Amino acid sequence: MAYIVKQKVNGKDYYYLRKSVREGDKVLSKNLAYLGKTREEAEIKAKEFLKNMENEKVEEKKISKLVQEKISVEELANFCKSKGFVFRSSDIYGGYSGFWDFGPLGSELFNNLKQNWWNHFVQQKENMVGIDASIISHPRTWKASGHLTSFKDIAVICKKCKRSTKLDPNEIGKVKCDCGGEYESQGEFNLLFKTSVGALDKDEAYLRGETAQSMFMDFKLISQTSRVHLPFGIAQIGRCFRNEIAPRDFLFRSREFHIGEFEFFIHPEEKKCDLLDENHLNVKFNFLSEEIQQKNSEELEEIFIKNLVEMNKLGEWHAYWLAEQIIWFRNLGLDEIKIREHTKEELSHYSSATFDIDYTYPFGSKEVAGNANRGQYDLNQHIKESKQKMEIFDEKTNQKVIPRVIEPTFGMERVFLALLTKAYCKNEKGDVVLKLSPNIAPVKVAVFPLVKNDEKLVNLSREIFDNLKKEWNIVYDGSGSVGRRYARNDEIGTPFCITIDGDSIKNKDVTIRDRDTTKQIRVKVSELKEILRKLINCEIKFENLK
Ligand SMILES: [Zn+2]
Repeated sequence: MAYIVKQKVNGKDYYYLRKSVREGDKVLSKNLAYLGKTREEAEIKAKEFLKNMENEKVEEKKISKLVQEKISVEELANFCKSKGFVFRSSDIYGGYSGFWDFGPLGSELFNNLKQNWWNHFVQQKENMVGIDASIISHPRTWKASGHLTSFKDIAVICKKCKRSTKLDPNEIGKVKCDCGGEYESQGEFNLLFKTSVGALDKDEAYLRGETAQSMFMDFKLISQTSRVHLPFGIAQIGRCFRNEIAPRDFLFRSREFHIGEFEFFIHPEEKKCDLLDENHLNVKFNFLSEEIQQKNSEELEEIFIKNLVEMNKLGEWHAYWLAEQIIWFRNLGLDEIKIREHTKEELSHYSSATFDIDYTYPFGSKEVAGNANRGQYDLNQHIKESKQKMEIFDEKTNQKVIPRVIEPTFGMERVFLALLTKAYCKNEKGDVVLKLSPNIAPVKVAVFPLVKNDEKLVNLSREIFDNLKKEWNIVYDGSGSVGRRYARNDEIGTPFCITIDGDSIKNKDVTIRDRDTTKQIRVKVSELKEILRKLINCEIKFENLK
């Protein structure tokens, strides 16, 4: 509690507001404010001071409250449509199931996400190169890869509610509909989209169902033309097509989507991974093992990457890349993940060990990424089908070898969906605030002139805007109250708003307002770009700015 004290200095009275503060086992008194020379004056000033302090406290509480909002996938789809993130494809024709358009904000956000992935897995790695291959490749690709014979789902219809869906072959007879009804098989369907190439001598061709095959087919060329040596990886992000029987859950299961993946080629006898360090071994996560799943349980255990290696669940290179995947998700702020080991029955035709990385979506914990040990399967298949030699010379061992392959895969739309799910928050007023990381957010900065009829102010605002937009995707917002402009930008995740007011012209400074705390600081116009660069690249936090 604060109290008023009188102090006599040279025979004169001075009043102070004082407070007792406990420090360890001592009680100290601390002056909060000087209150003047008379008791009456002191009482008025003390009241004012305490009221202000109270207001500040309330203000601070308001600031710190940004609560993540549980949102259904339908609500998220509506939100994405209303703000221009994602639309149904061909909306004027009633949409087309399984296809989506990224709108102005969605394409910015998606590009930022893809760039972030590329930066982490390609540019920051010494042993990785990127490619961008064609979507349609020689039809024999898919014969060699096994997709023509093995890339199948069983279409089923629920006998009770008539809902159609797909099952993996190993789920037939084991899985029931959510309504409790039995499924009736409608036969097998290949997931590859067919098309024809050429006008007269038509070739039956396929839209790629995964990006991996071009990395295998280009492997020899890349090893001859790039300065790479084993072990090295080839990465790409690209569109894929799967003729899903039942597209659902918004972007989660669609017929056209992006995969980000890489094939990492290793000498077949190389067991040690010299990049696997303490940081990787100590990555901790929730794990669902094969043994637990065989007992029909979904109980998670918290373990480290090093435990998986000790248990012989995976080799060192496999462990390294699984850890790198988890690290990337955590960098994006996506902590709600678990690792699920594939059971023997569900392993793909090409894999000897596979792990799913599942994210906790509103509609359940579902696969957002995967990590498969493909061994030498794909290269051997292409050697068989093409009759080409694909082994390469390894200088370290003086051997010609066919490398084995580890393949980390990411469903890029699924990561996009996870980012939005995680970012969707509400503030105390109940307004949506999209808490996206500044380096991912579609719009980085909004520039506001405080009033729109002041020519000098508008000129300075335009000047600042023109300078900043050379660097980032930013917006100029001159209409409506400042509060309304903040709200509009909070809703689409703009991390920083710049306000230019009357003092800006005199003092050559502006206000930066932080989306998550709503706190504001004033900075010099000359320093603005550099400060924003650090904030947007997440090199400094807003709270740590002076
Ligand atoms: Zn049913």
